[in-house]
Amino acid sequence: MTKIALVTGGTRGIGASISSNLKDSGYTVIANYASNDESAENFSKENNIEVMKWDVSNYEQTKSCISEIYNKYSSIDILINNAGITQDAPLHKMTVEKWNKVISVNLNSVFNVTSSVINKMRENGFGRIINISSVNGQKGQFGQTNYAATKSALIGFTKSLALESASKGITSNVICPGYINTEMVAAIREDILKSIIDTIPSKRLGEANEIAEMVSYLVSEKASYINGATFSVNGGLWMD
Ligand code: NDP
Repeated sequence: MTKIALVTGGTRGIGASISSNLKDSGYTVIANYASNDESAENFSKENNIEVMKWDVSNYEQTKSCISEIYNKYSSIDILINNAGITQDAPLHKMTVEKWNKVISVNLNSVFNVTSSVINKMRENGFGRIINISSVNGQKGQFGQTNYAATKSALIGFTKSLALESASKGITSNVICPGYINTEMVAAIREDILKSIIDTIPSKRLGEANEIAEMVSYLVSEKASYINGATFSVNGGLWMD
């Protein structure tokens, strides 16, 4: 039977590439998004992928939308926790609103979505969970105490979940992308971005499909012995 994959933030950037790559590999994909209807509709039409709008940082909305998916498909076999945002400021200028927003969208969302699918995965004896962290969760980054805190937290979350779920046929792994050519990175000031690229041994940004290819391998049957692992995909920017 065709496996069902849910990709949070799956309509733009890295998530869009993951969604279309999984579809090309034969999975039925549901791509979640938060607010950008135009991008989501275009993505859906171009790729023939079902899109579903809800805020993954909202626990009640998440529960209710995931129930809707279960009513329609009966299982969610693959979960890619990809939705994420930045709201940068050095800590001495960090507002509580920026702190809470990033914790909520990048970290609480992963609890909200994963806790909503884990019991059925355990019953089914199969699951693939991939969390999208960041190189900046591994090494830290000026202006990103909030973002880096969430992205490091995903590594601990993933390892703990792997311990809890391995005996039920579920793998849980984390990918830490370096700087990838998406709208999130396009928002970085040009001179700062240039100085970042200078520090990347590969001397270029990564492409979203380079993350999607790693995801496709990790969700496949071939990767069933890979569990609790952290994968850096960063052009050599940080070797950990
Ligand atoms: P984009 O900003 O290009 O896309 C983000 C996606 O997440 C969009 O689909 C957006 O929906 C969705 N989203 C945002 N907030 C929510 C929410 N509350 N509920 C549901 N969906 C939401 O991001 P990227 O593709 O660049 O990044 C994807 C992930 O990869 C993030 O977790 C990011 O931290 C991580 N990452 C990115 C790197 C990069 O260089 N780009 C580097 C390292 C990690 P909508 O379209 O409606 O706004």
